[in-house]
Amino acid sequence: MENILFKHLDIADLEKLDVYVANGGYAALGKALKELAPAEVTGLVTRSGLRGRGGAGFSTGKKWSFIPKDVDTPKYLTCNADESEPGTFKDRELMVRNPHQLLEGIALCCYAIGAAKSFIYIRGEYAHQARVMEKAIEEAKEAGYLGRNIMGSDFSLKVVVHRGAGAYICGEETALLDSLEGKKGWPRFRPPFPAIAGLYAKPTVINNVETLCNVPHIISRGPEWFASIGTEKSTGTKVFSVSGHVNKPGNYELPMGVTARELLFEHAGGIWGGRRLKAFIPGGASVPMLTESDLDVRLDFESVMAAGSMLGSGGVIVMNEDACIVWATLNLSKFYNHESCGKCAPCREGTYFIVQILKALEDGHGLPGDVEKLRDVATNIDGRSFCALGDAAAQPVKSSIDRFHEEYEYHIAHRGCMVGRS
Ligand code: SF4
Repeated sequence: MENILFKHLDIADLEKLDVYVANGGYAALGKALKELAPAEVTGLVTRSGLRGRGGAGFSTGKKWSFIPKDVDTPKYLTCNADESEPGTFKDRELMVRNPHQLLEGIALCCYAIGAAKSFIYIRGEYAHQARVMEKAIEEAKEAGYLGRNIMGSDFSLKVVVHRGAGAYICGEETALLDSLEGKKGWPRFRPPFPAIAGLYAKPTVINNVETLCNVPHIISRGPEWFASIGTEKSTGTKVFSVSGHVNKPGNYELPMGVTARELLFEHAGGIWGGRRLKAFIPGGASVPMLTESDLDVRLDFESVMAAGSMLGSGGVIVMNEDACIVWATLNLSKFYNHESCGKCAPCREGTYFIVQILKALEDGHGLPGDVEKLRDVATNIDGRSFCALGDAAAQPVKSSIDRFHEEYEYHIAHRGCMVGRS
């Protein structure tokens, strides 16, 4: 399959404006400004079937259509570049290797929703990526692709890069908005939803980097072309970040619906060390684990959900047969406990207790009944927390107990690990 978002693998120096333009860059923006009304741009994106690539998988065109049209008030697009989900590193590559693709997607979205200002909220650790985006914005402004009267039209747009301070919770869209406003990054109560009262209480669209990178291609090549890639309900390609026990970790752009087997064995080089696959997490750390018996699951929104997990961000974390599931779950749980913002009790207290129980199991101090207690704590976080971080924290615990119950019991009975760790 041809690279679409990952054209930088075929074209050298695509991060440079002249190379991007020579290869068809900003043509979609020019076409939209000349030939299409804003509502038509939204219509094309809706017809393409594009769904958010940040994790939720909501229809992008529908999200844009929620922005009120006939109101005289500022509107905003916030690009969520706070890529913090463990195992996910696709947006970093998209920004560094092809920053103008993202800027063109941002400009097209802003034109469609009537926004004159957009923010790229980028995680604090992405200092290099932030500098690349700032340089690209300056170049695009000088060339007339951003700024006042873009390409001779009456559409003007200012794009600002805002660096976060390294908190995972700021990837949650309403916490992101609070952080952008200069407040502590805490999730907001909804409703009102951001489309009605988002940034500075104004109508706001929040889209992930990869989502916006798809938009220029949809406008240039048409929604039918886009919808012909992938599956009926999960259209287009997906960039999968593969990490852990594989021979060739990295980002792979493949059609939605590719099987996990093809991704891991044909593209990522198979399981590291010539060992067997034990488990993989298909959508970033926040989704339930799958096992070797799920290798033929198609990686699209519906199929992964039918298999008991979620496509999420497409960050695929692989563990071979030497991995200790209790240790791996402790490692993931420490992350959620550290990143819990503390606003609500189920997540704040529950993630703490999960870590304490897992630590006892891992250190050989587990007691009979601890596995049930662990499941009980996770069940009381899942669906009872203020935001999705709480639900996310429960998934590695619940799914690992469901699928590897005997490993937990072994830790209690033998005060050590069945795969050689202790
Ligand atoms: Fe904060 Fe966790 Fe509650 Fe979300 S679920 S509001 S991260 S404490």
